[in-house]
Amino acid sequence: MMACRDNVPVATASMETRGGLGYIEEWVNARLVRDAQIGLLWEGTTNMNALDVINRAVGKEHAEEALLDDVTGWLDAAEGCPGQLRSRLKQTVSRAIDFARAVAADKGNERHCRQAAAGLYHAQTTALMAAEGAVIGAAGGDARRLLIARLVLDRRLAPQDPLKLDESPFEAEAAELLLSDTPVSLEQATALLQR
Ligand SMILES: Cc1cc2nc3c(=O)[nH]c(=O)nc-3n(C[C@H](O)[C@H](O)[C@H](O)COP(=O)(O)OP(=O)(O)OC[C@H]3O[C@@H](n4cnc5c(N)ncnc54)[C@H](O)[C@@H]3O)c2cc1C
Repeated sequence: MMACRDNVPVATASMETRGGLGYIEEWVNARLVRDAQIGLLWEGTTNMNALDVINRAVGKEHAEEALLDDVTGWLDAAEGCPGQLRSRLKQTVSRAIDFARAVAADKGNERHCRQAAAGLYHAQTTALMAAEGAVIGAAGGDARRLLIARLVLDRRLAPQDPLKLDESPFEAEAAELLLSDTPVSLEQATALLQR
């Protein structure tokens, strides 16, 4: 569901990248933007999925226990994952689970179901991305998923002040590496993650 939801701004941004040309039917973008909406409907709407995740999966089935086991297992098995990032990911997953449980515990919190389901999604997928990046990087491949994981942590799961300059060099340097076609080594990713 969240992938379908993210697909809407991605399709829109790809149209915008082509400017006015993206809007005309000669290009594929008009269809991509139109079709992106259907993912939000035919597999169940965001509200219904969020209610299902929080009220049923967490509130009734306690599925978050299995989720925590899985995520902890991925991170512990990913030996190349820098320790600081691993701890931050584990802490974030625990916070997302605590929040989901608190929302599920009281029917009066139903308006927070979307926020709680989104928190679980981001925490889980970020941990998986970091674990994959570490494993691929340790095998000599591209470790860029570690950098993407940190960006998701900073941008989607940490508090931010939208009216303050970001003074950390991490984001600008990570963007340079991520926008290049050259693979990012585990050493490069690890060094940058310490900034
Ligand atoms: C092209 C297409 C193909 C489809 N294919 C299939 C298929 O193969 N199999 C199948 O079973 N269905 C299929 N559907 C149906 C689809 O799953 C439903 O359209 C979808 O689940 C939304 O239900 P609805 O249209 O009844 O909208 P509604 O349930 O009326 O929802 C309208 C809005 O209200 C919100 N809402 C509703 N109830 C609540 C609530 N309790 N709390 C908060 N918000 C709420 C929803 O999130 C949504 O935003 C298809 C739909 C389309 C458009």
